[in-house]
Amino acid sequence: MKKYDVVVIGAGPGGYVAAIRCAQLGLSTACVEGWINDEEKPALGGTCLNVGCIPSKALLDSSHHFHHIKNEASDHGITVSGATIDVNKMISRKAKIVKALTMGISGLFKKNKIDWLKGQGKLISNNQVEVIPLHESHDEKIIVEAGNIIIATGSVPTKIPPASVDDKLIVDSTGALKFNEVPRRLGVIGAGVIGLELGSVWNRLGSEVIVLEALPDFLSAVDKQVAKEAEKVLRKQGLDIRLGAKVTGTGSNNREVTINYDDAEGKQQITVDKLIVAVGRTPNTNGLGAEECGLELDERGFIVVDDHCKTNLENVYAIGDVVRGPMLAHKASEEGVAIAEKIAGKPGHMNYETIPWVIYTWPEIAWVGKTEEQLKAEGIEYRTGNFPFMATGRAKAMGEATGFVKILADAITDRVLGIHIFGPNASELIAEAVVTMEFDGSSEDLARTIHAHPTLSEALHEAALGVDGRTIHM
Ligand code: FAD
Ligand code: NAD
Repeated sequence: MKKYDVVVIGAGPGGYVAAIRCAQLGLSTACVEGWINDEEKPALGGTCLNVGCIPSKALLDSSHHFHHIKNEASDHGITVSGATIDVNKMISRKAKIVKALTMGISGLFKKNKIDWLKGQGKLISNNQVEVIPLHESHDEKIIVEAGNIIIATGSVPTKIPPASVDDKLIVDSTGALKFNEVPRRLGVIGAGVIGLELGSVWNRLGSEVIVLEALPDFLSAVDKQVAKEAEKVLRKQGLDIRLGAKVTGTGSNNREVTINYDDAEGKQQITVDKLIVAVGRTPNTNGLGAEECGLELDERGFIVVDDHCKTNLENVYAIGDVVRGPMLAHKASEEGVAIAEKIAGKPGHMNYETIPWVIYTWPEIAWVGKTEEQLKAEGIEYRTGNFPFMATGRAKAMGEATGFVKILADAITDRVLGIHIFGPNASELIAEAVVTMEFDGSSEDLARTIHAHPTLSEALHEAALGVDGRTIHM
């Protein structure tokens, strides 16, 4: 029986990063991964690279270009007539990007001498993993011995009974990344991150998009001021967002889907060409052998871990979407690095207070730390600084002046408690906010930091000055 210092189960951004870091630290490492891609080939990279972060951003970028050319290029004096979208070409561009990146992970595995065990991993005990080979491979089932096991089996789309996915007209996020034409009318259940991102993609390409959200509030976890502004802007872009809409059933023939839902005004019905179900994701412990091994799961199916990702089984850790905390690729990766370092006898560092969030609508929504509502609920005294992109030269020059930066700082110590950005390239700008919070920085630290001119980052600088009532350009 082959023996490794570490066996990782799952090669998404949690598992593959953990495996690489283990190998870098001199631990003999194997990673069990059973993903089969659209070409029916085994692939590394998990949800993020194959059907998540990367392909969705590829489509967001393509659709952003199309929308810009059609609607905004003329503002710059550029005339483009007859712009059309070749959906199949856009989808194959996305597929090429995914292939290159997932093959890149195979290359990194080779470089770091990580054994990729192709198949489904099942816990036999706290130091043995069975690998059930992929159906097309002729390998035998094998059992490997592990000094430590890291479970990184991720998550899968949540299913709801009134809208079961048929992969034809009713799809989940994976199906929504490979439509072969622009649906004339598109329904989306769930105005969460996926609903808004993928809804935006198809809206920009010409679909009439109706988003049904069960909750009465839009983006209820986001700072209210940001959520309110984003709702206004996204509605203006054409997303027909219907809040407090509880889907009761769907019916489909071969051409269209009928959706029944209840809202404040009573029973409603709409008909669409395609329906995306995006109501959250469920931790994936399918076939993992959790029950047989006594691995503790909580009532929602997450593997129970402590603050250091330790499960109830000795030397068995779990990271990423399959454990508590935000379901984000960078959270999974950082947990992977921290656990690899802990196994190698190093301290390992993971700060759950400074995990950035980004929603890749346009403008983008990004934040780190607490919302104003959270601070109020916790009775923390704070000061705010706000600055609109409209008042920055660079945003004006780009023609992208919608949105603002908001900084929340402790009223006594001035320590930054939260930064919220709705605006162009917020996904990049948020890094400065994260660094500030990671170093326990104050709004004064940001205010005294020189920002290049003209840049979008000047809005952060001005918002920081605003905490002390001394913005220059407003
Ligand atoms: P996963 O990426 O889900 O990987 C788990 C892996 O484990 C899979 O490859 C699976 O095949 C494998 N596996 C499962 N069980 C077994 C087993 N028993 N044996 C062997 N292998 C197994 N996050 C962001 O931070 N930014 C984004 O922009 C973003 N966009 C997203 C867009 C979409 C459409 C979706 C669906 C998700 C997006 N996410 C984004 C979320 C992100 O993809 C996840 O948070 C991230 O992939 C979680 O990483 P993970 O390693 O925990 O799990
Ligand atoms: P989500 O939790 O962001 O949103 C789901 C939405 O569906 C919620 O607003 C919820 O109230 C609503 N909902 C739930 N049941 C419903 C029902 N029956 N009818 C109508 N609405 C209903 O989940 P998601 O958008 O599916 O994304 C899953 C996770 O994937 C996210 O939480 C996020 O962690 C990750 N993700 C991240 C990014 C990113 O970082 N940019 C992008 C995509 C996905």
